[in-house]
Amino acid sequence: MPGPNQAIVTRVRICPNCDGFATAAVPAGTRHSDGSRVLLHVDCATCHGIGTVPLRPRLTAADVEVAA
Ligand SMILES: [Zn+2]
Repeated sequence: MPGPNQAIVTRVRICPNCDGFATAAVPAGTRHSDGSRVLLHVDCATCHGIGTVPLRPRLTAADVEVAA
């Protein structure tokens, strides 16, 4: 009998490169005319700004696909 909280089955996992923080705001070193900083928004190169990556299919010894 399953418990009150059922397991969530997902086909993606949090990006191991950025840990889910897919876009970083990097100060460019200059300022706008109103004094605020110029920020460059840079996407993670691994997940391309999504924050998750697809699970890699992995097979057990019995050729059963399990999550990575
Ligand atoms: Zn990422």
